[in-house]
Amino acid sequence: MESIWAVVAEGMSAAAVVGVAQRSGLPVEAYVFGDSELANRVASYGVSHVHWWSDEQTLPETLAMSLASRAKEDMPTAVVSSDQATSRVLLGAIAVVVDAAVAHGIISVAPSDGGVKVERYVADAEAVEVLCAPGPVVCTIADGVAEAEPAATPAPIEEMEPEQNGSIKVLSTNEEGEGANGLQDAERVVGVGLGVGSKENVALAQQLADAIGAEVACTLPLCDNYHWFEHNRVVGTSTQKISPRLYLSFGSSGAPQHMTGVRAAKVIVAVNTDPEAPIFRECTYGIVGDVSKVLPAFIQAVSK
Ligand SMILES: Cc1cc2nc3c(=O)[nH]c(=O)nc-3n(C[C@H](O)[C@H](O)[C@H](O)COP(=O)(O)OP(=O)(O)OC[C@H]3O[C@@H](n4cnc5c(N)ncnc54)[C@H](O)[C@@H]3O)c2cc1C
Repeated sequence: MESIWAVVAEGMSAAAVVGVAQRSGLPVEAYVFGDSELANRVASYGVSHVHWWSDEQTLPETLAMSLASRAKEDMPTAVVSSDQATSRVLLGAIAVVVDAAVAHGIISVAPSDGGVKVERYVADAEAVEVLCAPGPVVCTIADGVAEAEPAATPAPIEEMEPEQNGSIKVLSTNEEGEGANGLQDAERVVGVGLGVGSKENVALAQQLADAIGAEVACTLPLCDNYHWFEHNRVVGTSTQKISPRLYLSFGSSGAPQHMTGVRAAKVIVAVNTDPEAPIFRECTYGIVGDVSKVLPAFIQAVSK
C-alpha cells in the first residue's frame, strides 16, 4: 500500500512536517529521532504508526543508513522532513539509496498520475511552482506551513533498537568546543543586529533574555565583523534556522539571509529606528524606536 514518511528529528517543526505529510492523503508512517516526549507528540497527530529511535544511543549518521535501507524496502511515495541539520542528514542518505528526486521548501506533496507532485512558493511567495517526478520524492518543507492537529487516538509507538551499524562512530568528544547553546530548542529568543550599537546594549539584551528565560541570537556582522558573539549564535541562511515561539529582534534590518533563519518563529517583535526597515514587513509587532531606549523599557516591563 502506498504511504508517505514523516521523518521528525526536531521538536519545533514536528507538527508542520506531519501536517504536510497528512495533506498528501496517504497514510503517514512517522520516523522519529529524539526523546520520548517527541515520539509521544508525533503519535498524537493522527499518524498511522511511530517508529522511534532515542537520540541517546544512536547517531543521526548511523540512523541515516538504516532508515535508507528501510526506505528501499518500503519504497514510500515521498519522504518529508524539516530543513534542519539532523533531518538533512537523514534525508540525504534516503534520497541516494532509493534514487529519489529531491525538493526543498515545499508546501505540499501528493501522488499524481503515477508519479509525485510537489508545490513550493517562488518569487517571494507570489507564485507557486508545481513540480512532478516519476518516482519517490524526498523533500524538506517550507517555513510557516499549516501544522497537524492532535487526533482523538494516539498512534502506536514502536521503540526501535539503538543503531550502531558501524558506518560511523564517535571517536572522542572535545569538551572545549563551542557547545550547544540551546538556540535550537529555545521557546524565546532575543535577537540583536548591528543597530544594537554597543556592548552595553548587548549586555542589556542578555539581561532581558535572562529575565524571560530566552537565548540570545545575532546577525552575521556582529559575529564576523565585531566578534561580539560566537558563530553558533548567528541565525540565518549560512548558519542555522530557529523556530521559537517568540523572537524579539533589536536593531536588525531584516535582511533575507537573516530572516530565513527566524521566519519559522510564531511571533516576531521587531525594534528598529527606521520605519522603512524590511523587518517591519515580516514581523507580527513592530516598534519604531531606538534600541537604547526600548531595551531598558522591556527589561523594566518584564521585571514588574
Ligand atoms: C552569502 C551570504 C550569507 C549570509 N548569511 C547570513 C546569515 O546567516 N545570518 C545573517 O544574519 N546575515 C547573513 N548575511 C548578511 C546579511 O545579508 C545582512 O548583511 C545582515 O543580516 C545584516 O545584519 P543587521 O541587520 O545586523 O545589519 P544592518 O542591515 O546594517 O541593519 C541594522 C539595522 O539597525 C537599525 N538601527 C540602527 N541604529 C538603531 C538603533 N539605535 N535602534 C534600533 N535600530 C537601529 C537600522 O535602521 C538597520 O535597519 C549573509 C550575507 C551573504 C551575502
